[in-house]
Amino acid sequence: MENRFSKSAPLVGVLAIQGDYSAHISILRGLGAKVREVRKSEDIDDITHLIIPGGESTTIRKVAYEDGYWDKLAQFPGPVMGTCMGSILMATDIENPKSIGWGMLDITIKRNAYGRQVHSFTDYGKIALSDEPFEMIFIRAPKITRIGEDVKPIAWLGNEITGVISGNKIALTFHPELSADYIFHKHFLGLE
Ligand code: GLN
Repeated sequence: MENRFSKSAPLVGVLAIQGDYSAHISILRGLGAKVREVRKSEDIDDITHLIIPGGESTTIRKVAYEDGYWDKLAQFPGPVMGTCMGSILMATDIENPKSIGWGMLDITIKRNAYGRQVHSFTDYGKIALSDEPFEMIFIRAPKITRIGEDVKPIAWLGNEITGVISGNKIALTFHPELSADYIFHKHFLGLE
């Protein structure tokens, strides 16, 4: 495949313990990135980028703690994109129940914040990367309830912030890997 990257193709680690990692993987491969499924500590060693997919944060918490690589994930210095569950783990403060995240982004995030009646829904929101309305798929999604000073909103549903960026870290409460438009993956890989 033709290399669309200015340097060598990035090696993107996708946390693949549980959740919808395969959707991310096919998009990344389609864009020409090399992909590694991250299941254990050593898998993180030489990756350039890291994606934390949607899934169940309580499961990841257990498995990663047992395997002892929670801290290594938390301290990953390169670009990280977290979607839904990923945005929860990347936060400084987590609510419902109260716990501590990786602190990659100075935000507070509330798990399962759309209530029991509304487990999953799709709606069109606004994103900083384009003028077009963007399809946002929410599945037992969290809500960002506080953002720190150095954190910039990049996605909104109505007045609510559904995506943020700080340095090389991006957190989205929805699932861009399930939409037809891969603009967030392209941006994450430096392709546009
Ligand atoms: N409800 C899940 C959690 O709290 C997140 C849901 C998702 O990633 N789709 O971890």
